[in-house]
Amino acid sequence: MKRPRQRQGEGQGQRLQPGRLARLDQRHVWHPFTQMRDWMREEPIVVVGGRGARLKDARGRSYLDANSSIWTNLHGHRHPRLDAAMQAQLRRIAHSSSLGLANEPAALLARELVQAANPPARRGLVPPAVVALALSRVFFSDDGSTAMEVALKLAYEFGRRTRGLKHPRFLSLQGAYHGDTVGAVSVGHIDLFHRAYAGLLFKSDRVMAPYCYRCPFNRAKPERADAREYRRCGWECVGQVERRLAVKQKTGEPYAALVVEPRLQGAAGMIAQPAGWLREVAALARAHGALIIADEVMTGFGRTGVGWSGEAPTAAQAVAGRRRRASLFASPQEGVQPDFLVLAKGLTGGYLPMAATLTTESVFSAFLGRYEEFKTFFHGHSYTGNQLGAAVARGSLELLRSPQSIAARASLELGMTRELQSLWGLAGVGDIRQVGLVAGIELVEDWPTRKPYPLRARAGMRVCAAMARRGVLTRPIGNVLVLMPPYCTTAAQLRRMVGAMGEAIEEVLG
Ligand code: PMP
Repeated sequence: MKRPRQRQGEGQGQRLQPGRLARLDQRHVWHPFTQMRDWMREEPIVVVGGRGARLKDARGRSYLDANSSIWTNLHGHRHPRLDAAMQAQLRRIAHSSSLGLANEPAALLARELVQAANPPARRGLVPPAVVALALSRVFFSDDGSTAMEVALKLAYEFGRRTRGLKHPRFLSLQGAYHGDTVGAVSVGHIDLFHRAYAGLLFKSDRVMAPYCYRCPFNRAKPERADAREYRRCGWECVGQVERRLAVKQKTGEPYAALVVEPRLQGAAGMIAQPAGWLREVAALARAHGALIIADEVMTGFGRTGVGWSGEAPTAAQAVAGRRRRASLFASPQEGVQPDFLVLAKGLTGGYLPMAATLTTESVFSAFLGRYEEFKTFFHGHSYTGNQLGAAVARGSLELLRSPQSIAARASLELGMTRELQSLWGLAGVGDIRQVGLVAGIELVEDWPTRKPYPLRARAGMRVCAAMARRGVLTRPIGNVLVLMPPYCTTAAQLRRMVGAMGEAIEEVLG
């Protein structure tokens, strides 16, 4: 291999020529989920800065970050409060190990996450059965995949130790994506990604997901509206989950856990669940002896909106109602308290890789014992409980609780609903599914028949490339465009995001 030459002036802190930077990337960086042959053909956008909802590239061009840097960013780039939290922590220490040592920001963050994750029991709003499931223990890790590994291992071992399961097994949804580590892939069901690794995986079962737009049980003809609103069905999707759970329970071994992304499945294609689905399915899982692992890697930290059950409150209602009802997580919006709450992405407001798996006292106690019993949870990462990450995560939680943020999120949600209406006029748009501050726009060849584009037509990729030429960045999931703006996005920026999407669809799909 040719050794990379370091040119004069290319040390740290020096600005390189944009073209040179791009070539260095193309020569050495292997990008995730990317066909590198295509990548190396065209100069990539090299991001060198950002502020608020904007990103800046090495050639001085400005873009809007319409998918919040792959669903991580909450409050915008270079938020003064978060920058200050990190700088303050840096003046003390960046990192110390959680193996054998505690640290201040991680301890404080754990308490704040527990407070945010549990329903306000004292106000008598939540049934005692739900309060009993309080999430009280926090295991920190690095990203969504590792946080999922933690949940899976804990549920597996808890099943063996306390529930007498011989072969604890998981049930997850069609199209599920829970990360790329081997355990997380094992409960994933996107064949395109996961088939190649089948030989490495443990077995898990899949069950129908509630994908109203493409549901074989939905008898409704396509309309120019979110398919969840006009669907005609008998909740067959719930029936399928019930059957699965019952069949497994009859074998004498119930499922160790149902693994689910609450309210919408992200990487499956922004598949939004009809209101009530999760509530039903979670109750069935419990009735059939399965725990619930809520993967809120994408949905957590306010992404599914400040209202409950999908309705978008006005800013004033949101602020007034926040004490009573608002939750930062999607599961409680459907009245569900999971046994495991898996968090990553937005945990640090999009600043640093950090994740957390929350669980109950009941799971925690299954790992207590005398040293020599070796009931210890033998799992951990070098950066577990990272101090910088925890400090910035605390700053982000503080912002999320502020009335300003709640009001901004409520009006952004309403703004999205309004702006997205304009896309129904385009023949290439088949379904628009919005849940709070995230929306999936499914592209089709022909909306009256719902005919999909073949994947090789790269419809989503081409539309996103045309959006990028208009200064708006997002990444598609197959034929589904994603709109997931940072919470600081202004009304004018939102209009530009949706406007660019509409123009790009027209340009590419005609
Ligand atoms: N779960 C969900 C729901 C996700 O969307 C993702 C990432 N897109 C993951 C898990 C994995 O997270 P990470 O990429 O941080 O490992």
